Amino acid sequence: MIKYRLSCSDGHEFESWFRSIADFDTQSHAGDVACPLCASTEITKQPMAPAVVSGRRVTPRSAPTTADPRANTEMLGMLRAFKKTVMENSEDVGTGFADEARKIHFGEAEERNIRGSSTMDEARALAEEGVPFGVLPPLPEDLN
Ligand SMILES: [Zn+2]
Repeated sequence: MIKYRLSCSDGHEFESWFRSIADFDTQSHAGDVACPLCASTEITKQPMAPAVVSGRRVTPRSAPTTADPRANTEMLGMLRAFKKTVMENSEDVGTGFADEARKIHFGEAEERNIRGSSTMDEARALAEEGVPFGVLPPLPEDLN
């Protein structure tokens, strides 16, 4: 297994696993490697030595188990890339997330990307009011 850092034509960076170097070349030429953020297939390899791990270490200990550890790792790579983009393009409003999201939705605050935390009740209330928001799933490293 070889892990590559990849970037698309829009500059999104993400990681993906391939069986071999040749496997990456074949898949990218066939347009089978797509950016998880914008689905661009113009993918370039980041200039970095690929990390090679033994099959035993592919799945982080604290990750949820699935039938296919490789699919799980690919999923985690996509989540990491997504989370990184959110982090870099949003304002942290902490526990005031629900209030701020509501204000932005009803035009009482400046429209911008925000992130923060909310309780389950707050999230449910936001959904009922039709305020759009997303939930970032916790990654294994967040739980450690
Ligand atoms: Zn992209």
